Amino acid sequence: MGLAEGSPGEEVCGLLVRAGGVMDCWPVRNVAAAPTTAFELAPLELLAALRRLDLEGAELVAVYHSHLAGGAELSPRDLAGALVDGAPVLPGAAQLVLGLEGGRVTQVRVHRWTGSGFGSIEAWSR
Ligand SMILES: [Zn+2]
Repeated sequence: MGLAEGSPGEEVCGLLVRAGGVMDCWPVRNVAAAPTTAFELAPLELLAALRRLDLEGAELVAVYHSHLAGGAELSPRDLAGALVDGAPVLPGAAQLVLGLEGGRVTQVRVHRWTGSGFGSIEAWSR
């Protein structure tokens, strides 16, 4: 949450990983052309993070990103980025969205692939 709130002018993004029973956040630079309304994981950083997962025996739990306003649902653009040919780009990883209002996180939703689309639950709200 602090990462998202520390960047109220641009969406933040990265990977939520689990290693040795501990959850960790690996931030990845947002290289979207319009980072106020979209996110795009920096490709080389993403590749490096995926390699690090293998090396450390860590598990990718979710791809996270923030929304500066408007809630924590996946946008059409988020969906387009998460899928290739109708299937998840990163199978097994959930999409976690931190929704900000006025610079503070007010909602967190976890979107999981159900086989035909993303179903979501509200994980937290203020
Ligand atoms: Zn989004």
